[in-house]
Amino acid sequence: MSKRVMNPAARITAVALATAGLGASLVAGAGSAFAAEGKATIATAATGASAAVAAQADAQAQAATKAVKAAAAKQAAAKQAAAKKAAAQKAAVKKAVKKAAPVAAKKSASWVKPVGSYTLTASFNQGGAMWSHKHSGQDFAVPVGTPVKAAGAGTVVKAGPNGGGDGPAYGNAVVIKHANGKYSQYAHLSKINVGIGQKVGAGQKIALSGNTGNSSGPHLHFEIRTTPNYGSALNPAAFLRSVGVTI
Ligand SMILES: [Zn+2]
Repeated sequence: MSKRVMNPAARITAVALATAGLGASLVAGAGSAFAAEGKATIATAATGASAAVAAQADAQAQAATKAVKAAAAKQAAAKQAAAKKAAAQKAAVKKAVKKAAPVAAKKSASWVKPVGSYTLTASFNQGGAMWSHKHSGQDFAVPVGTPVKAAGAGTVVKAGPNGGGDGPAYGNAVVIKHANGKYSQYAHLSKINVGIGQKVGAGQKIALSGNTGNSSGPHLHFEIRTTPNYGSALNPAAFLRSVGVTI
């Protein structure tokens, strides 16, 4: 049996080698571990970063959502405002129309009845003992002193006794010239409130009714003429109907 004895120098080298190997391996392991850990850290960092990015993205998304929502709200508000504006405009138009309506109504009432309440008596072209020819106007039986109104706007061209120049049969009378070329005449008046050349509006009081001239009783004799003078009378009821006034 022989005992193998190692050369001491070789032994040291082996140990050194072994130690070195171990160390190396240890070092390598540590390195690996470090590397792994580093990777993990990086991963963690990466995760953190990605989480941060994600969070940021989420925040951004939320912000974007908020922005979209805000924009939508803004748009809705704008839409509402526009709707409000349109409604206001519509209301304004309605108001304007409403406002314009009475004016239009006033315009259509450019002709009126010469007296308020009355009883129709002798009509146009009616024959009778009272007139040498046929009746030249429409009679409205009314008590003496009833306000007589201009049937339409115009200018007074005759006003006074003796039918304003047309003859004594008419008593006190007024003749008004109108823009449409027609003339209206009012006779047998008790009082005249206007003078020649005076402008009057439709419905304006021009006189009080009476029983002057050739009259069988208190009434207003009303004519529509094509000239200021006697002999040019039209059917006054038909004329008033043509301008929207029914007597
Ligand atoms: Zn008459």
